[in-house]
Amino acid sequence: MSWQQRIDTALSERRAADALRRRQTVTQGAGRWLTLGEQRFCNFSSNDYLGLSQHPTVIRAWQQGAERYGVGSGGSGHVSGYTTAHHALEEELADWLGYSRALLFISGFAANQAVIAALTGKEDRIAADKFSHASLLEAASHSQAQLRRFSHNDAGQLTTLLAKPLAGQQLVVTEGIFSMDGDSAPLAVIADASREAQAWLMVDDAHGIGVSGEQGRGSCHLHGIKPEVLVVTFGKGFGVSGAAVLCSDTVADYLLQFARHLIYSTSMPPAQAVALGAALQVIRSDDGNARREKLAALIAHFRHGVAHQAVTMTDSSSAIQPLIVGENSRALWLAERLRQRGCWVTAIRPPTVPPGTARLRLTLTAEHQFDDIDRLLEALHDSE
Ligand SMILES: *Cc1c(COP(=O)(O)O)cnc(C)c1O
Repeated sequence: MSWQQRIDTALSERRAADALRRRQTVTQGAGRWLTLGEQRFCNFSSNDYLGLSQHPTVIRAWQQGAERYGVGSGGSGHVSGYTTAHHALEEELADWLGYSRALLFISGFAANQAVIAALTGKEDRIAADKFSHASLLEAASHSQAQLRRFSHNDAGQLTTLLAKPLAGQQLVVTEGIFSMDGDSAPLAVIADASREAQAWLMVDDAHGIGVSGEQGRGSCHLHGIKPEVLVVTFGKGFGVSGAAVLCSDTVADYLLQFARHLIYSTSMPPAQAVALGAALQVIRSDDGNARREKLAALIAHFRHGVAHQAVTMTDSSSAIQPLIVGENSRALWLAERLRQRGCWVTAIRPPTVPPGTARLRLTLTAEHQFDDIDRLLEALHDSE
């Protein structure tokens, strides 16, 4: 098969399965409203859970950071791209989350790839929740270690898996709040199982950080655990982008030697680090508390309203409220119906989720109003 035939075949297979992914050019897509030129939709697709992408203090911080440092870092953090802004943010994050060290990465995807590749070798085993994010599972399957997936949130199966003999070390991988289901991992039980097997635990809390737990410290804080490696990302609750790995001094020093995504890549713009520092201040403040409370009230309102409808929801109390619809074509049709009613929702299809579980991944944010939720509930009701 030629290059061109291979590409054409892959595309037509996707098309035939109603699984072709396309992007939509939006004018504005992170806040309460998604705008497409003149058209305006109530936005139920954004991960900007606290509305910080539009927060005036965070915007001003980015502008001031750019004035002071310029717009780019000029290189890898190992050369000349590690500024006082990066250093200050790492210290604040470590202090906030109760770790010795934090290392900034350009994205959560890069952080997960880097950590798994740097830590694991061919004698080791990675035990990952089956529903872990693509960045984790991909890194694990590319690593030399043995990858074993345990059933979603099944600590019993994890324990059995960890008991199997092995020459090397074991790394348990899970998320705080799962990105496509919105449910939480039983972190305390998973941490116990890991400790008993002398495995290390890595938790990716992309959807919990800033949003859950006291002061927004996230899922691990909420469940009273401290994994050896905690990954937090800044494109969701923080409203910006980027990520950090929280760990011990020695693990940080080790990653600085072996995490290739840190060494061979330009560090985040210093101005972005300044903006992230401002977002962190908001998250820890009364304003942050008010945003989390508002979000919790909106989630409760939605769950209450949707309980009367003939739809399949997941066991989620987070801002991610998926509506499982099954077939791809039905998910696409429903998303289109809701858009006609002014609600912007995204159909998520395999391979992002298991076959036969296509869904509308609805996300709520602190920027929504109760009326917005009512409008969504009505639109859902009318689309059944
Ligand atoms: C979004 C997400 C990531 C990727 O983070 P980016 O900073 O967007 O690259 C990683 N893990 C999980 C669980 C996510 O939801």
